[in-house]
Amino acid sequence: MDATLGSTLVTEADEDERTDAELLAAVRAGDCQAGGELFRRHVTLMRRVAAGLVRQQAERDDLVAEAFARVLSTVAAGGGPESNAPAYLVATMRNLFARWSRHENRIDLYATVPEPVTLDGGADELAVMRSEDRLVWSAYRTLPGRWRTVLWRMSAEGDTPAELAPVLGVSPNGVAVLARRAREGLRQAYLQVQVPDAKLPQCQEVRRRMGAWLRGTLPARRAGILAEHLAACEPCHAVAAELAEVNRELPRMTGCCDPAIPEPR
Ligand SMILES: [Zn+2]
Repeated sequence: MDATLGSTLVTEADEDERTDAELLAAVRAGDCQAGGELFRRHVTLMRRVAAGLVRQQAERDDLVAEAFARVLSTVAAGGGPESNAPAYLVATMRNLFARWSRHENRIDLYATVPEPVTLDGGADELAVMRSEDRLVWSAYRTLPGRWRTVLWRMSAEGDTPAELAPVLGVSPNGVAVLARRAREGLRQAYLQVQVPDAKLPQCQEVRRRMGAWLRGTLPARRAGILAEHLAACEPCHAVAAELAEVNRELPRMTGCCDPAIPEPR
């Protein structure tokens, strides 16, 4: 290798890459940017380990984010590792996962609540209410375990974030964030469970993402592709138009507006 090039690379590496021990010391001294640098450095490893622990993407993200937040707050408070951040981060994540799993096994008991006993009378209104219940229930069952937990405990049992924080192993603020994501996830799933299966292969992807699209959470590029398909496909357009009505009844996300359904060509 060219000697000059070699020394240039070393110099650049020195500038960008303080050692983990130096970054940890910086976090301890109150440098938030050092925490961000540690995150960037080890997030790939964390995600890989998380992928071996939990199946659903949303839960992986929660696990990685929470483990980082915990380690950083421990270090900022003067505790935690002096060096070897990855080992400590991974151990923290595994511990969190173990605690969350124990908790989830308990919560899954709630997820097997039997259907309400059949009532006689059969009023139309009751039938509508029950079918709505069923839809919400189906949507709820598709959510990641922690989202189900936070929704159930806060909605059905009336727990506050402060009460739930020690149970879920996150801060009260973490519970509030989780609850917001879970509520939005439920609305999206509520729409998605009403999307009929596609008859044509080219419609499958569009149908699978329709809930997210209606809630305005698809990345712009994907949203554009989906809108394009709706303009050209009569059956998908009809599904989108019908569900857009349902979506209008749901609470809005902040900073989000209804997607415009393109007219069929
Ligand atoms: Zn289609």
